[in-house]
Amino acid sequence: MAGILFIISAPSGSGKSTLVSEVRKQLRGIDFAVSWTTRAPRGSEQPGREYNFTTREEFERMIAAGKFLEYAEVYGKDLYGTPRKSLEDARAAGHDLVLDIDVQGAAQIRAKMPEAVTIFVLPPDPRQLRTRLRNRARAEGVVNDDEIFRRLGEARREIENYREYGYILINDVLDRAVAQLEAIVQAERFYRNAEPIAYRQSRVLEVAAACLIKNAQERLKPVLEAFGIDGSSGQQQLPFGDDPDDD
Ligand code: ADP
Ligand code: 5GP
Repeated sequence: MAGILFIISAPSGSGKSTLVSEVRKQLRGIDFAVSWTTRAPRGSEQPGREYNFTTREEFERMIAAGKFLEYAEVYGKDLYGTPRKSLEDARAAGHDLVLDIDVQGAAQIRAKMPEAVTIFVLPPDPRQLRTRLRNRARAEGVVNDDEIFRRLGEARREIENYREYGYILINDVLDRAVAQLEAIVQAERFYRNAEPIAYRQSRVLEVAAACLIKNAQERLKPVLEAFGIDGSSGQQQLPFGDDPDDD
């Protein structure tokens, strides 16, 4: 059976790693592509689990050797890339593959593999995004306010690309967002591979359909507005309004 390629993008701190790891506990046959990056490990991150860490020189050698399915410089700072091997391994095993990559990487993959399922995850608003970035940094014992502030600043620019994705997931209540991502995976397996859904099939398909971008506009509008994006035109409206120091 052909494996399905899922691309998940979101502003950093939206919760996509959390969602993917929860769904992988519930559903079998989903591989996660461990990317290469030139950034330093954060907190409890372990080489080969969250990322493969390397130097810029080595990364550039890997680019020249054609090792990446896609790569990009993210936040104008570090290089991140998806190893080709992750797709080859998932295909050989007949597994689905999840790529957690930024909007530039997603555009590269979409151009090569238009059949990929694309999911954009949004935090409910900038304030909660900031709280999540801070909480994660505290839990990892590395609070770097400049880094948090830069990632917050990038969030709106990334969110402006939401229209390029097939599904929209608003990660407000974690359990609900996990159930939605699970439903999307099950629905895609059902429609593409005729894989039966063991439990509450019509409900699962309904939950997944509600996350299709065309059906998510009403829920999306207040989130876009909170980030200063006009939900109807996608144009930037307001500067990033929140004071970074008022929690
Ligand atoms: P990303 O992979 O998108 O950068 P993470 O999965 O690392 O984000 O999540 C960022 C932080 O937010 C983590 O501390 C995580 O536990 C927390 N988090 C994720 N989802 C939720 C949620 N729905 N509600 C509250 N906190 C969340
Ligand atoms: P972080 O440093 O928070 O782990 O990730 C920063 C950003 O890089 C996130 O948006 C994440 O999705 C993205 N990213 C992680 N791996 C890759 C990759 O292999 N390719 C691309 N293009 N982006 C990636």
